[in-house]
Amino acid sequence: MVIDFLKFRNFKMCGRHLLLQPHLDDIAFSIGHVLSEKIIPREEAIAYTIFGKETFNIRNYANCEKTLKLLEKEEEQWFSFSKIRYDRFCLEEAGYRGISNVRTLFQPKAANVFSETAQIPPIENGEDVNNLVKELVRGGYRYIWVPAGVGGHCDHLAVRQSVLNHMPSCPETQIIFFYEELPYSHYSAPIKWEEVFISGFKFAGRVVYQPEQVKSEQKASNLEIFYSQINESQAKVLSAQAESFSIWIRNENFEEIKLKIT
Ligand SMILES: [Zn+2]
Repeated sequence: MVIDFLKFRNFKMCGRHLLLQPHLDDIAFSIGHVLSEKIIPREEAIAYTIFGKETFNIRNYANCEKTLKLLEKEEEQWFSFSKIRYDRFCLEEAGYRGISNVRTLFQPKAANVFSETAQIPPIENGEDVNNLVKELVRGGYRYIWVPAGVGGHCDHLAVRQSVLNHMPSCPETQIIFFYEELPYSHYSAPIKWEEVFISGFKFAGRVVYQPEQVKSEQKASNLEIFYSQINESQAKVLSAQAESFSIWIRNENFEEIKLKIT
């Protein structure tokens, strides 16, 4: 079920939001438009980057400390421009861990496996991710924004699975928003949300945000901050794409909240 963004925008989300991104640009790329619509009260939100130690990028900067600093600076600029509080953790991302094989990096079949008992993809620092995410999600947030895992990037799946592992001990969390990653969602198989089971939560629908041209141009210009990652024309293509996220509401609150958003 697709929920109209204009309808969703009327839903007043009071309470604290936790936004998790595996890498420095996932939130900007995937929900830059959505966040610019100010649906989240800024004073109540905080974002975290999990795999902050990364030197891999598509514009082929040297793998060195200098690049690491450059990436950090770009990330900081985007969040400060977007007026979203954020912090970063320095777990090593896949490229930094030496994973260059596409089949190891992307596990598209695992993208549809949401089981609570599913294994975190066997990444080297999976336990560290799990422990870190556990601390973060237990901070008493009413809303949590999590990478959906579209395309099956192993770091994204590790973050997603870690959140699911700890949801049973986070009763304050009423809604999980799974944001579908750009650019992966542009060319990867979509997640079959209707077939997903998440213990304690029910699927309420998927919100799709189709940007108007004027908005696309704004996002493209904001994304140019990530100079080391993408060039101007890539930023334009990315910014014209629709953004989407799926909504999962805790069973006890399902009927009440669903009525307000659909
Ligand atoms: Zn990522």
